[in-house]
Amino acid sequence: MSKFIFITGGVVSGIGKGICGASIGRLLKDRGLSVFMQKFDPYINVDPGTMSPYQHGEVFVTKDGAETDLDLGHYERFIDEELTQRSNVTTGRIYSEVIRKERRGDYGGSTVQVIPHITDRIKSYVYKAAEESKADIIITEIGGTVGDIESLPFIEAIRQIHAENKKEDVLFIHTTLVPKIPGSDELKTKPTQHSFKELMSQGIKTNIIVVRSEEKISEEIKNKISLFCDVPKRAIVQSENVNLIYEVPLKLHEQGLDEYILHKLCLSGQPVLKDDWKVMIENFKNVKDELEIGLVGKYVQLHDAYLSVSQALIDAGYSNGHKVNLHWINSEEITEQNCEEVLKDLDGIIVPGGFGGRGIEGMIATSKYAREKNIPYFGICLGMQIAIIDIARNLCGLEGADSTQKDPNPKYPVIDLMKNQIDVEDIGGTLRLGNYDCKLLENSKVKELYKEDIIKERHRHRYEFNNDFKEDLEKEGVIFSGINPELGLVEIIEYTKTDYFVACQFHPEFKSRPNKIHPLFNGFIKASICNKNK
Ligand code: GLN
Repeated sequence: MSKFIFITGGVVSGIGKGICGASIGRLLKDRGLSVFMQKFDPYINVDPGTMSPYQHGEVFVTKDGAETDLDLGHYERFIDEELTQRSNVTTGRIYSEVIRKERRGDYGGSTVQVIPHITDRIKSYVYKAAEESKADIIITEIGGTVGDIESLPFIEAIRQIHAENKKEDVLFIHTTLVPKIPGSDELKTKPTQHSFKELMSQGIKTNIIVVRSEEKISEEIKNKISLFCDVPKRAIVQSENVNLIYEVPLKLHEQGLDEYILHKLCLSGQPVLKDDWKVMIENFKNVKDELEIGLVGKYVQLHDAYLSVSQALIDAGYSNGHKVNLHWINSEEITEQNCEEVLKDLDGIIVPGGFGGRGIEGMIATSKYAREKNIPYFGICLGMQIAIIDIARNLCGLEGADSTQKDPNPKYPVIDLMKNQIDVEDIGGTLRLGNYDCKLLENSKVKELYKEDIIKERHRHRYEFNNDFKEDLEKEGVIFSGINPELGLVEIIEYTKTDYFVACQFHPEFKSRPNKIHPLFNGFIKASICNKNK
């Protein structure tokens, strides 16, 4: 029997509900409970897969191929559990499922309505998550801000879940902002009071309030919130601003949040918090050396577009004793002429994923520069395709080599649409998504890093390396060190004539954890440190 925690947000968006939920997940897991997490997003897109990175930031991919909100990345990194299709549900998905059922005649002639049909469908995702994961605790974050029109059915659904279950099995946590008024230097609780009232008017009485604020909130502020929002003072905690997001669970723990949650859920008697997380943070904080890593992409104006990649780099840096200084470099501004100037001070270069043709030439120039100057290169997805185009053009003499995503009719289509993608019409949900096997080559760098024969990694792409050009590349020192056994599709390449040049078709960043760094991020960071000390 699972218990349910629902997290809502008040006042403004972007106050770190996701990190708050992930932190609570971490704390409960450390207390010996099993945890599953999910996020409900009230927008109409069926999933974020079709949204621009500028709109939505990174699309996080689960092992079973769901394209999801980037908060799931926080969840996985904090709680170290692989989430699933059940973990991200949007209004669009709920409605399309209900409408499909209606067309099939599943509703037996009744009028299909928001209540109960839409709310039932939403609830089914919570209950199914409990059934399938068998976790002790299901944590569900409701995206958006309380008071939004579009989140009403979700709020109603969680109200019903509260009504259907025992009091001690359902807990509501509300995150709010206590703003400071410019000039008067005063912290204001009124927006929190209003947001509490708004939730009350929708039938939900919050049990816990997590406050964000510019500065530390006083006892007086807590007293006020406690009085107006009818929660005991120990149920009000602050999620302080920290340098390392991984500190948030500890800060919440110091204020007794996990203790209080267990008490409310009648789960007292659980083992006390483990020390590992604390030790990890201490180690991260004591790091003295620095490392300069360039991230060359075309969505660099919005760092969230590369959230898991940047987090994995930073975490890998810390765990190897270095603070990573990330240089966000817009590939559209790179040319073969200015490469030297832009990239010369970097210890390592990463080219992450991306779509379309814009900014590609700058990435190709980057790959060439990294090869020629023996700077560690790490290509992910598009970054692997880029490396292949570079090597084909500049070493194999295949002038005019390109990806058919950029140029539909290149002289040498070294990157081409996957065969099973040719007839695909819809763009939503049709990429090659989620886990696929990859067999590693003996005596390769990646074999050394993974220490395994077959690995499983998550994917999100439509194009692949065209195997017709294998020999051309091999002659110039490329090895194909990871192959998908079913399709023969190239998953990893290495260029062997420099110290470190590894690129993969999959997205390793989704599987890296602060306390369990992904082998490819480890390998790249270690190589960059070597390069720096050379
Ligand atoms: N655009 C490329 C493809 O579809 C790479 C995708 C990616 O980097 N995620 O194959």
